[in-house]
Amino acid sequence: MTRWPDQPMTRSSRYDRTVVTKGVAKNKLQLLRSERLGKLAWTVHAFSTRHGGVSRVYGGNALNLGFTKQDSRAAVERNRELFLKELGATNRDKNWPLVSLRQIHSDLIHRVEGMPEQPLTGDGLVTDTPGLLVAVQTADCLPIILADRTRRSVGVFHAGWRGTVKRIVEKGVGEMRKHFRSDPRDLVAAIGPGVRGCCYEVGGEVRTRFEAQFAYGGSLFREVKESDPVREKYPLLFLTARAPGHSELPVKLFLDLVEANRRQLLDAGVLAKNIDAVGPCTACHPELLFSFRAEKGVTGRLMGAVGIRPE
Ligand SMILES: [Zn+2]
Repeated sequence: MTRWPDQPMTRSSRYDRTVVTKGVAKNKLQLLRSERLGKLAWTVHAFSTRHGGVSRVYGGNALNLGFTKQDSRAAVERNRELFLKELGATNRDKNWPLVSLRQIHSDLIHRVEGMPEQPLTGDGLVTDTPGLLVAVQTADCLPIILADRTRRSVGVFHAGWRGTVKRIVEKGVGEMRKHFRSDPRDLVAAIGPGVRGCCYEVGGEVRTRFEAQFAYGGSLFREVKESDPVREKYPLLFLTARAPGHSELPVKLFLDLVEANRRQLLDAGVLAKNIDAVGPCTACHPELLFSFRAEKGVTGRLMGAVGIRPE
Protein backbone atom coordinates (compact mmCIF):
# COMPACT_ATOMS: atom_id res chain seq x y z
CA MET A 1 0.00 0.00 0.00
CA THR A 2 1.06 3.54 -0.65
CA ARG A 3 1.23 5.42 2.62
CA TRP A 4 0.03 8.98 2.56
CA PRO A 5 0.64 10.52 5.96
CA ASP A 6 -1.66 13.45 5.36
CA GLN A 7 -4.66 11.59 4.03
CA PRO A 8 -6.67 8.40 4.45
CA MET A 9 -5.44 5.29 2.69
CA THR A 10 -8.51 4.12 0.84
CA ARG A 11 -8.48 3.90 -2.91
CA SER A 12 -11.66 5.92 -3.26
CA SER A 13 -10.31 8.85 -1.28
CA ARG A 14 -7.37 9.13 -3.61
CA TYR A 15 -9.57 8.73 -6.63
CA ASP A 16 -11.74 11.53 -5.26
CA ARG A 17 -8.80 13.90 -5.55
CA THR A 18 -8.96 13.47 -9.30
CA VAL A 19 -10.95 15.99 -11.25
CA VAL A 20 -12.60 14.26 -14.16
CA THR A 21 -13.43 16.72 -16.87
CA LYS A 22 -16.22 16.15 -19.36
CA GLY A 23 -18.70 13.34 -19.19
CA VAL A 24 -17.88 9.72 -18.60
CA ALA A 25 -19.47 8.58 -21.86
CA LYS A 26 -17.01 6.38 -23.71
CA ASN A 27 -16.98 8.38 -26.92
CA LYS A 28 -16.20 11.61 -25.10
CA LEU A 29 -12.68 12.77 -24.62
CA GLN A 30 -11.95 12.36 -20.93
CA LEU A 31 -8.92 13.73 -19.09
CA LEU A 32 -7.66 13.33 -15.53
CA ARG A 33 -6.20 16.29 -13.71
CA SER A 34 -4.41 16.97 -10.45
CA GLU A 35 -6.28 19.26 -8.10
CA ARG A 36 -3.05 20.77 -6.78
CA LEU A 37 -1.58 21.46 -10.22
CA GLY A 38 -4.94 22.73 -11.43
CA LYS A 39 -4.65 25.60 -8.96
CA LEU A 40 -1.68 26.98 -10.91
CA ALA A 41 -3.60 29.04 -13.47
CA TRP A 42 -0.48 29.70 -15.56
CA THR A 43 -0.12 26.00 -16.41
CA VAL A 44 -2.08 23.57 -18.55
CA HIS A 45 -1.77 19.90 -17.72
CA ALA A 46 -3.59 16.58 -18.02
CA PHE A 47 -3.29 12.83 -17.95
CA SER A 48 -5.18 11.29 -20.85
CA THR A 49 -7.53 8.31 -20.68
CA ARG A 50 -8.39 5.94 -23.52
CA HIS A 51 -11.68 7.62 -24.28
CA GLY A 52 -12.56 10.05 -27.02
CA GLY A 53 -10.15 9.47 -29.91
CA VAL A 54 -10.36 8.10 -33.42
CA SER A 55 -8.21 4.94 -33.11
CA ARG A 56 -10.22 1.81 -33.91
CA VAL A 57 -7.63 -0.89 -33.18
CA TYR A 58 -7.98 -0.97 -29.37
CA GLY A 59 -11.77 -1.21 -29.13
CA GLY A 60 -14.23 1.69 -29.44
CA ASN A 61 -12.94 5.14 -30.32
CA ALA A 62 -9.66 5.16 -28.48
CA LEU A 63 -7.39 8.11 -27.75
CA ASN A 64 -4.11 6.36 -28.49
CA LEU A 65 -1.40 9.04 -28.28
CA GLY A 66 1.65 6.90 -29.12
CA PHE A 67 2.89 5.61 -32.48
CA THR A 68 2.35 1.91 -31.84
CA LYS A 69 2.73 -1.11 -34.10
CA GLN A 70 -1.02 -1.60 -34.41
CA ASP A 71 -2.29 1.93 -34.97
CA SER A 72 -2.05 4.21 -37.98
CA ARG A 73 0.06 7.35 -37.93
CA ALA A 74 -2.90 9.44 -39.12
CA ALA A 75 -5.08 8.28 -36.23
CA VAL A 76 -2.39 9.08 -33.64
CA GLU A 77 -1.80 12.51 -35.14
CA ARG A 78 -5.52 13.24 -35.07
CA ASN A 79 -5.74 12.03 -31.46
CA ARG A 80 -2.89 14.32 -30.47
CA GLU A 81 -4.69 17.27 -32.09
CA LEU A 82 -7.87 16.43 -30.17
CA PHE A 83 -5.89 16.06 -26.93
CA LEU A 84 -4.22 19.45 -27.27
CA LYS A 85 -7.49 21.14 -28.15
CA GLU A 86 -9.22 19.64 -25.11
CA LEU A 87 -6.27 20.65 -22.92
CA GLY A 88 -6.46 24.23 -24.09
CA ALA A 89 -2.90 24.06 -25.43
CA THR A 90 -3.85 26.27 -28.35
CA ASN A 91 -3.04 29.75 -29.50
CA ARG A 92 -5.54 31.42 -31.87
CA ASP A 93 -6.88 28.00 -32.93
CA LYS A 94 -3.39 26.70 -33.59
CA ASN A 95 -2.11 23.88 -31.36
CA TRP A 96 1.12 24.44 -29.41
CA PRO A 97 4.14 22.40 -30.46
CA LEU A 98 4.11 19.03 -28.66
CA VAL A 99 7.53 17.76 -27.54
CA SER A 100 7.70 14.07 -26.69
CA LEU A 101 10.52 11.54 -26.46
CA ARG A 102 11.80 8.25 -27.73
CA GLN A 103 11.67 6.70 -24.26
CA ILE A 104 14.30 4.20 -23.16
CA HIS A 105 13.75 3.69 -19.38
CA SER A 106 16.74 5.93 -18.64
CA ASP A 107 17.49 8.88 -16.38
CA LEU A 108 18.15 11.19 -19.36
CA ILE A 109 16.41 14.55 -19.06
CA HIS A 110 16.37 17.29 -21.72
CA ARG A 111 15.76 20.99 -21.34
CA VAL A 112 13.75 22.25 -24.33
CA GLU A 113 12.97 25.78 -25.49
CA GLY A 114 11.13 24.88 -28.69
CA MET A 115 10.48 21.99 -31.02
CA PRO A 116 13.79 20.08 -31.29
CA GLU A 117 15.21 19.56 -34.78
CA GLN A 118 15.93 15.89 -34.12
CA PRO A 119 13.68 13.58 -32.10
CA LEU A 120 14.99 13.39 -28.53
CA THR A 121 15.83 10.17 -26.74
CA GLY A 122 15.33 10.06 -22.97
CA ASP A 123 12.73 10.00 -20.24
CA GLY A 124 12.35 13.52 -18.95
CA LEU A 125 11.71 17.02 -20.30
CA VAL A 126 11.91 20.37 -18.54
CA THR A 127 11.06 23.82 -19.89
CA ASP A 128 10.27 27.39 -18.94
CA THR A 129 9.15 28.34 -22.44
CA PRO A 130 5.48 29.34 -22.64
CA GLY A 131 3.29 27.92 -25.41
CA LEU A 132 5.06 24.57 -25.56
CA LEU A 133 3.61 21.25 -24.37
CA VAL A 134 6.03 18.63 -22.98
CA ALA A 135 4.78 15.07 -22.63
CA VAL A 136 5.64 11.47 -21.82
CA GLN A 137 3.80 8.37 -23.03
CA THR A 138 2.84 5.51 -20.73
CA ALA A 139 0.79 2.34 -20.43
CA ASP A 140 1.50 1.18 -16.81
CA CYS A 141 4.66 3.19 -16.12
CA LEU A 142 4.09 6.41 -14.19
CA PRO A 143 3.92 9.84 -15.81
CA ILE A 144 5.07 12.46 -13.30
CA ILE A 145 4.64 16.22 -13.69
CA LEU A 146 6.50 18.94 -11.77
CA ALA A 147 5.69 22.65 -11.74
CA ASP A 148 7.58 25.45 -9.99
CA ARG A 149 5.01 27.97 -8.85
CA THR A 150 7.59 30.69 -8.25
CA ARG A 151 9.92 30.28 -11.23
CA ARG A 152 7.11 29.26 -13.60
CA SER A 153 8.83 26.25 -15.08
CA VAL A 154 7.62 22.70 -15.60
CA GLY A 155 8.87 19.17 -16.17
CA VAL A 156 7.50 15.77 -17.09
CA PHE A 157 9.06 12.36 -16.47
CA HIS A 158 8.51 8.72 -17.41
CA ALA A 159 9.10 6.33 -14.49
CA GLY A 160 8.86 2.58 -14.75
CA TRP A 161 10.87 0.47 -12.32
CA ARG A 162 14.07 0.93 -14.31
CA GLY A 163 13.79 4.72 -14.44
CA THR A 164 12.76 4.80 -10.80
CA VAL A 165 15.78 2.80 -9.67
CA LYS A 166 17.91 5.27 -11.70
CA ARG A 167 16.23 8.11 -9.75
CA ILE A 168 14.66 9.83 -12.75
CA VAL A 169 12.33 12.01 -10.67
CA GLU A 170 14.96 12.90 -8.06
CA LYS A 171 17.21 13.94 -10.93
CA GLY A 172 14.27 15.82 -12.44
CA VAL A 173 14.11 18.02 -9.35
CA GLY A 174 17.87 18.50 -9.68
CA GLU A 175 17.53 19.58 -13.32
CA MET A 176 14.89 22.14 -12.36
CA ARG A 177 17.20 23.50 -9.66
CA LYS A 178 20.04 23.70 -12.15
CA HIS A 179 18.19 25.28 -15.09
CA PHE A 180 15.57 27.40 -13.36
CA ARG A 181 17.00 27.84 -9.84
CA SER A 182 13.92 26.07 -8.50
CA ASP A 183 13.53 25.74 -4.74
CA PRO A 184 12.09 22.23 -4.21
CA ARG A 185 9.69 23.68 -1.62
CA ASP A 186 8.04 25.60 -4.47
CA LEU A 187 7.51 22.49 -6.58
CA VAL A 188 4.10 20.91 -7.04
CA ALA A 189 4.20 17.27 -8.17
CA ALA A 190 1.50 15.14 -9.76
CA ILE A 191 2.03 11.41 -10.12
CA GLY A 192 -0.31 10.20 -12.87
CA PRO A 193 -2.12 6.94 -13.53
CA GLY A 194 0.04 3.82 -13.72
CA VAL A 195 0.17 0.28 -12.42
CA ARG A 196 -0.16 0.32 -8.63
CA GLY A 197 1.03 -1.91 -5.83
CA CYS A 198 -2.13 -4.03 -6.16
CA CYS A 199 -1.04 -5.35 -9.57
CA TYR A 200 2.66 -4.62 -10.17
CA GLU A 201 4.18 -8.05 -9.75
CA VAL A 202 7.96 -8.11 -10.22
CA GLY A 203 10.81 -10.57 -9.90
CA GLY A 204 13.22 -10.84 -6.96
CA GLU A 205 15.99 -9.15 -8.97
CA VAL A 206 13.94 -5.93 -8.97
CA ARG A 207 13.86 -5.90 -5.15
CA THR A 208 17.60 -6.56 -5.08
CA ARG A 209 18.17 -3.51 -7.29
CA PHE A 210 16.00 -1.26 -5.10
CA GLU A 211 17.59 -2.52 -1.89
CA ALA A 212 21.04 -1.79 -3.30
CA GLN A 213 20.04 1.75 -4.26
CA PHE A 214 17.73 2.94 -1.45
CA ALA A 215 17.88 2.48 2.34
CA TYR A 216 14.08 2.13 2.29
CA GLY A 217 14.15 -0.11 -0.83
CA GLY A 218 12.79 -3.24 0.83
CA SER A 219 9.77 -1.39 2.25
CA LEU A 220 8.48 -0.69 -1.26
CA PHE A 221 7.66 -4.36 -1.79
CA ARG A 222 4.78 -6.48 -0.59
CA GLU A 223 5.05 -10.24 -0.39
CA VAL A 224 2.07 -12.45 -1.07
CA LYS A 225 2.37 -16.15 -0.40
CA GLU A 226 1.16 -18.25 -3.29
CA SER A 227 -1.63 -20.49 -2.19
CA ASP A 228 -1.17 -24.22 -2.64
CA PRO A 229 -4.14 -26.27 -1.40
CA VAL A 230 -2.12 -29.49 -1.04
CA ARG A 231 0.61 -27.84 1.01
CA GLU A 232 -1.93 -26.04 3.15
CA LYS A 233 -3.75 -29.27 3.93
CA TYR A 234 -0.65 -31.37 4.62
CA PRO A 235 2.01 -28.89 5.78
CA LEU A 236 3.99 -31.52 7.67
CA LEU A 237 4.72 -33.45 4.51
CA PHE A 238 6.49 -30.45 3.08
CA LEU A 239 8.24 -29.43 6.25
CA THR A 240 10.03 -32.76 6.56
CA ALA A 241 10.76 -33.17 2.87
CA ARG A 242 13.09 -30.21 2.68
CA ALA A 243 15.97 -28.75 4.56
CA PRO A 244 15.08 -26.11 7.17
CA GLY A 245 14.58 -22.69 5.63
CA HIS A 246 13.44 -24.14 2.34
CA SER A 247 9.96 -25.13 3.41
CA GLU A 248 8.33 -21.76 2.79
CA LEU A 249 5.76 -21.45 0.06
CA PRO A 250 6.91 -19.40 -2.92
CA VAL A 251 6.01 -15.72 -2.66
CA LYS A 252 4.83 -13.22 -5.21
CA LEU A 253 6.39 -9.77 -5.01
CA PHE A 254 4.53 -6.53 -5.67
CA LEU A 255 6.24 -3.16 -6.09
CA ASP A 256 4.62 0.13 -5.04
CA LEU A 257 5.98 2.41 -7.74
CA VAL A 258 3.94 5.41 -6.58
CA GLU A 259 5.45 5.21 -3.10
CA ALA A 260 8.93 4.76 -4.59
CA ASN A 261 8.60 7.98 -6.55
CA ARG A 262 6.94 9.83 -3.67
CA ARG A 263 9.94 8.95 -1.48
CA GLN A 264 12.31 10.32 -4.12
CA LEU A 265 10.35 13.56 -4.35
CA LEU A 266 10.46 13.92 -0.55
CA ASP A 267 14.19 13.16 -0.47
CA ALA A 268 14.69 15.85 -3.12
CA GLY A 269 12.97 18.39 -0.87
CA VAL A 270 9.45 18.47 -2.32
CA LEU A 271 6.89 18.90 0.48
CA ALA A 272 4.44 16.05 1.15
CA LYS A 273 1.50 18.44 0.91
CA ASN A 274 2.56 19.39 -2.61
CA ILE A 275 2.51 15.85 -3.99
CA ASP A 276 -0.63 14.56 -5.66
CA ALA A 277 -1.41 11.07 -7.01
CA VAL A 278 -3.95 11.06 -9.79
CA GLY A 279 -6.11 8.31 -11.22
CA PRO A 280 -6.62 4.66 -10.43
CA CYS A 281 -4.45 1.63 -11.25
CA THR A 282 -4.10 1.10 -15.01
CA ALA A 283 -4.10 -2.70 -14.68
CA CYS A 284 -7.27 -2.65 -12.53
CA HIS A 285 -9.01 -0.28 -14.97
CA PRO A 286 -8.23 -1.16 -18.60
CA GLU A 287 -11.73 0.09 -19.48
CA LEU A 288 -10.55 3.63 -18.63
CA LEU A 289 -6.81 3.52 -19.20
CA PHE A 290 -4.32 1.70 -21.40
CA SER A 291 -2.48 -1.09 -19.56
CA PHE A 292 0.39 -2.97 -21.15
CA ARG A 293 0.08 -5.73 -18.55
CA ALA A 294 -3.70 -6.11 -18.50
CA GLU A 295 -3.84 -6.08 -22.31
CA LYS A 296 -0.82 -8.31 -22.81
CA GLY A 297 1.19 -5.78 -24.75
CA VAL A 298 -1.42 -4.94 -27.38
CA THR A 299 -2.42 -1.52 -26.16
CA GLY A 300 -2.28 2.18 -26.87
CA ARG A 301 -0.40 4.91 -25.03
CA LEU A 302 -1.60 7.45 -22.51
CA MET A 303 0.03 10.85 -22.20
CA GLY A 304 0.98 12.98 -19.23
CA ALA A 305 1.50 16.53 -20.46
CA VAL A 306 2.21 19.97 -19.07
CA GLY A 307 2.87 23.44 -20.46
CA ILE A 308 2.99 27.12 -19.58
CA ARG A 309 0.34 29.51 -20.87
CA PRO A 310 1.70 32.51 -22.76
CA GLU A 311 1.03 35.77 -20.85
ZN1 LIG B 1 -4.30 -2.72 -9.72
